[in-house]
Amino acid sequence: MTLTPNQRLTPRFLESLIVLFGLAACNQNISSHGKSYGGPTEAYVRLPSSLVTDKFVDASGFIQDHIHSEHYAFGYLQKAVLDKLPQTQQQLITELNNYEWTHFPHDLNTLRRLPDTETTGDYEEFHDFAAMTADLEQTATRFPEITYLEPGGLSVQGRELWLMKISAHAQRNDQRPKILLIANMHGDETVGRELMLYLIRMLTQGYQHDERITRLVNAAQIFIMPSMNPDGFELGQRYNARDVDLNRNFPDFVSDPHDTPANRAPETQAIMALHASHHFIMALNFHGGEVCFNVPWDTKSNARKSERFGDDGLLRNIGRQYADLNATMRVNHSGSFDHGLTYGYEWYRVKGGMQDWSIFYRESTHATVELSHVKWPSAAHLPRLWDENREGIIRYMEQALVGMHLHVVDRSGATLHQVNVRSSGHDRSSGNERTIHYASGVVHRPSLTQMQTLEISAPGYKSETLNISPWQFTGSNYRELVLSKD
Ligand SMILES: [Zn+2]
Repeated sequence: MTLTPNQRLTPRFLESLIVLFGLAACNQNISSHGKSYGGPTEAYVRLPSSLVTDKFVDASGFIQDHIHSEHYAFGYLQKAVLDKLPQTQQQLITELNNYEWTHFPHDLNTLRRLPDTETTGDYEEFHDFAAMTADLEQTATRFPEITYLEPGGLSVQGRELWLMKISAHAQRNDQRPKILLIANMHGDETVGRELMLYLIRMLTQGYQHDERITRLVNAAQIFIMPSMNPDGFELGQRYNARDVDLNRNFPDFVSDPHDTPANRAPETQAIMALHASHHFIMALNFHGGEVCFNVPWDTKSNARKSERFGDDGLLRNIGRQYADLNATMRVNHSGSFDHGLTYGYEWYRVKGGMQDWSIFYRESTHATVELSHVKWPSAAHLPRLWDENREGIIRYMEQALVGMHLHVVDRSGATLHQVNVRSSGHDRSSGNERTIHYASGVVHRPSLTQMQTLEISAPGYKSETLNISPWQFTGSNYRELVLSKD
């Protein structure tokens, strides 16, 4: 029995659950659950990791949270489900005050609140929707050449999903590599939202003053969505305003292989539409509750090398770099965590996540960063969190510019379309391959290896194999590749 991404917990589903657990019928109406802050129908709980098997998650609808310890899992469970679990299991589960746990540090073993040491220094408060909107609009007005601010969609309650594009000639949608950064898809994981505002300031104010930033803004098209779930932020909850967990709401190539926006949350549909308009070479999304760099897959095991994401070696290398640059992340070493780096599924399974969808269905290279142990810390922590992540984020974006940048044409010099690029894996031992499809004949293929073999093909043309070394893209230094007719 599995939950589809849109199905949280219907009475019919509960009936089947009750049958599964051999329980008496439950009279409570649980077709809609409450808000995450001590809502009437949902509990925020800690339970032993050993209890959290795939079977348990499928049967109970447990939504695991990012907070992680060697012995415990944290997350959301319907109270009706909790009440009907066998006594032996109930005794192992502790209900927690979600507000407390979202805002303050705690000892994961004793459950005691810890003193918050970081309360001094200069810092800005969090931006609510109105303040975030004003901040973005001011930036767009001040830097009209290199910014383009647009609503990337609307939330359930009608808030704009602001999308700030930063690039030289930002109004022009062209062929330079596209990078996507998304934060705050879980409404109560708020650090990423603020860091995106800091990043937007750094990129705009640093342009033509800082060499690296100028290079990046000239050569790349950077799309930043500080809040994918502005309603959740205003409501102080993980879910959107219809109580949908947006990171369980995407098509899942294992459990829900229907790549259609139909019947999904408007915020999910907005991200799907965005990917239909743009092919993002590199993408990152930011969460909170843990401090780590999470690589695909989230929905299935990564134990066998042959089953891993085709760009596993590339993403793990960049993730390693990111984690090493973050003092809190690199010491996070337990369970599935290798000094801050983890495979998604090996940490905990996520069905219907955005990362896997964007990779599998939209051929992006997408990872997930967890920024802070406390999801919604005091704003006094923000300057440190920005310091810890700034360099990692810049390097991640810079990686989109290092690789092979090809302009694929026919003998007359006309740009070809529907070009496929097959590359052998970056991690030689894995033997993984990946084919990326480019709608136009302009190819950006990030690479870290000294030499890579690419096979380039287009319908009706003879394929070409190149042994090629990566180079730094500056905005126009393409290598032309001519394909001959079949
Ligand atoms: Zn999250």
